[in-house]
Amino acid sequence: MHLGLSQNCLVCKQSSGTSICQYCFDDLTLFDIDPYQHNLMLSPKVKLGLVKVDFPQVLALADYQWPLSKLLTGLKFSKHVPNAHALATLFVKHCLSSIPVLPQLIIPMPLHKNRYLFRKFNQSIVLAKQICSLSQLDMDTSIISRCKSTPAQTNLSATQRRKNLRNAFEIDEAAQQRLKSYKHIALFDDVITTGSTMNCAYRSLRKHNPNLKIDIWSICLTLVR
Ligand SMILES: [Zn+2]
Repeated sequence: MHLGLSQNCLVCKQSSGTSICQYCFDDLTLFDIDPYQHNLMLSPKVKLGLVKVDFPQVLALADYQWPLSKLLTGLKFSKHVPNAHALATLFVKHCLSSIPVLPQLIIPMPLHKNRYLFRKFNQSIVLAKQICSLSQLDMDTSIISRCKSTPAQTNLSATQRRKNLRNAFEIDEAAQQRLKSYKHIALFDDVITTGSTMNCAYRSLRKHNPNLKIDIWSICLTLVR
């Protein structure tokens, strides 16, 4: 987490030798990973919010709440890249340092081409890139793409979200061949809410390689309140 001495904590803005100072770090409520063997689907509280998904495993840092939510929105909307470094460092330390087997590579959740051209920024790619460099993993952004420009999901019901997402992802022929050579990957998104987007991407990948082990990773999960 050290980036030099002359910086301020990204959360409280006090002078700090680290991107998140010790006081703010001690204040964070992170998920308890060990009792669930790095699989939060075994936690009843998480499972309750992800009822209609096919993936059997999910790993995340914390519930979507302050101050991590502030760091995530600062990254997504203000393109504040130092937030990605701080979040990725937390994720690697808390979630990956004791994981028994790492995947072969990380696939970040794509944005639709038009939306990417408009925003020129995909926070999931920025975060995944940092996670990769901290944990010596590879990233592949060319396997899966978003072929349907889906409207914002936020205000839709779960059923509307699923309908909206049908066939939303595309894996071209070259990527299908490459996908077949993998045994174990991680699919990564910054935040998982209902899990429907993640599930759709998961199903698309499994369709072309039914034996592929896919870990589902994210910085935050929105727990059912
Ligand atoms: Zn602080």
